Amino acid sequence: MAQRILTGYRPTGKLHLGHLHGNLKRMIELQEQATCFFFIADWHALTTDYQDPSRLRAYTEDMVVDWLAAGLDADKAAIYRQSDLPEVAEFQLYLSMVTPLGWLERVPSFKEQQEQLKGREIATHGFLGYPVLQAADILIVRADGVPVGEDQLPHLELTREIVRRFNYLYGETFAEPQSLLSPSPRIPGTDGRKMSKSYGNHISLGDTPEDIHKKVGIMVTDPARRTRRDPGDPEKCSVYELHKIYTVDRLEEIGEKCRTAGWGCVECKRVLAERVADSLRDFRARRKELEKTPGIAWKVLEDGLRKVKPVAGEVLAEVRRRMGID
Ligand code: SF4
Repeated sequence: MAQRILTGYRPTGKLHLGHLHGNLKRMIELQEQATCFFFIADWHALTTDYQDPSRLRAYTEDMVVDWLAAGLDADKAAIYRQSDLPEVAEFQLYLSMVTPLGWLERVPSFKEQQEQLKGREIATHGFLGYPVLQAADILIVRADGVPVGEDQLPHLELTREIVRRFNYLYGETFAEPQSLLSPSPRIPGTDGRKMSKSYGNHISLGDTPEDIHKKVGIMVTDPARRTRRDPGDPEKCSVYELHKIYTVDRLEEIGEKCRTAGWGCVECKRVLAERVADSLRDFRARRKELEKTPGIAWKVLEDGLRKVKPVAGEVLAEVRRRMGID
């Protein structure tokens, strides 16, 4: 079992169901078992969104409050903002000296993201180098476990390669961090694609029951069900994918009713929306409570910084020494 865990989120504002089932539930468990470092990756956000940073502060605040409402505990984990820890930037500079360009160019997400974000000018030094920044995030706290999804495995492998090279050049300094791969279900958005704020297809954790009913109401379903009388195939339906998480106790019945046209999609969606809204009732109440304390997010980030700063300072001092900069 890993002893030190690190994970970070780009500040994209309020959290949604994709975050909750993707990583957040895991973070809530891990904070009980290990020393955890959870950070807001605002420098990472700038690698793709540097042209419009106007919402960065607001998004950071929203995300921290959502984290707390979801169950992250600032007394148990160090919750901090990446840009408050300049040690990371200096460390990234040192790591960038030892990282061959070819390693960065072959990271699969480099080309994929360039494709996906075609409208933005991201052929930048910062964007190419963001896996090195990730390595600095991980190693600055000597994390030995990093919760990741399948798509992030190549990044962590790159961190391990950087560790091996650093250790080879300057002597044994870092252990190779391990991935904590969690089997997280695919969460479809309202349009059937993976739920993501950038697609505008998300259901936020803070959405009201009315919002949730509206959003579930427009979810794409099995196209074979053109009318109420057409039987459907639940395995081709995004609504059913969410029923698999929220309505497990009625799954067989729901599948049967779909296949036999025993009910319409409107009814099926209503059941789902009620379950989702119920599951988020406590979250909404806790968020409301937290909102009564203005500035609570910044206070939490300040406290978290106090915890991470000495750890980062010790690591950076050793790196400087090893690289002849002390
Ligand atoms: S009945 Fe339910 S599972 Fe079947 S297509 Fe409609 S929404 Fe999807």
